Amino acid sequence: MVGEWAERLARAEEIVARARQIVAFTGAGISSESGIPTYRDTNDAIWEKYDSETIAEISHFRRDPRNFWRFFQEARYVAMSQAEPNPGHRALAAMERAGRLHSVITQNIDGLHQQAGSQRVIELHGNTRRILCLECGERHAFEEVYEILQLRNPPPCRACGGMLKPDVVFFGEPLPAAALMEAGQAIADCDLLIAIGSSLVVYPAAALPEQAKRQGADLMLVNLTPTAYDSIADVVLPASAGEVLPALARAAGVADPI
Ligand code: NAD
Repeated sequence: MVGEWAERLARAEEIVARARQIVAFTGAGISSESGIPTYRDTNDAIWEKYDSETIAEISHFRRDPRNFWRFFQEARYVAMSQAEPNPGHRALAAMERAGRLHSVITQNIDGLHQQAGSQRVIELHGNTRRILCLECGERHAFEEVYEILQLRNPPPCRACGGMLKPDVVFFGEPLPAAALMEAGQAIADCDLLIAIGSSLVVYPAAALPEQAKRQGADLMLVNLTPTAYDSIADVVLPASAGEVLPALARAAGVADPI
């Protein structure tokens, strides 16, 4: 196994070293080492109180916004406000700074890529740190809404008193068309797609690896558990993103990736 791992890593380093346009695609797994659990790992006590199937549905939010905001206060805010980028996020940011990574397409809503210094981040599911008024569009900071929540639930917009909603795509809402187009273009233009920390089961994550392969790019998977795309990937690295990405960044020519 040690020999096989060394071979896989060497192959991955060789692919990264020769790639001319690299795009990363990230899921919840890249942030697990920052202390933000993936849905499947989220601790059961939270899910005994909040149903993981419905809490992120737009119909639930409309029906019972107070319950959603209680979840925000107790689970999401706590996890996200304490999280810091880990070596995986930082390695991708360093690759971009060095001109060795075109962009990061992410399903995550935690803003950790930007916090690590990534500039070109295509957010497919929005960002929970931005909170918008559904009536007047006023933008509120994450921390400000947390403060308002100590006094009132649901929290009213500071400008017009309207309903606030995190700027994220809830289940049952369409994905932002502009971000989807941008992601499609980035994949069409790349010669290497590295998918990191995503089970690749939900659209559009499930469509991106195939698109990359169809258009002639190499496909690399960095994921702790197997995915349905392992068989079409050029190399699969079943390891943690925080360990592997700094090594890949060095192979891409980045001297000090973290
Ligand atoms: P997912 O479907 O993206 O799967 C996570 C994958 O990451 C799993 O296959 C797991 O084996 C792998 N993984 C876990 N830790 C890893 C690590 N350190 N290195 C490499 N791989 C690792 O995630 P999900 O939790 O089922 O989430 C579904 C949706 O919810 C996605 O859109 C996801 O991005 C979103 N979500 C986002 C956040 C966030 O913003 N941080 C957190 C939870 C869920």
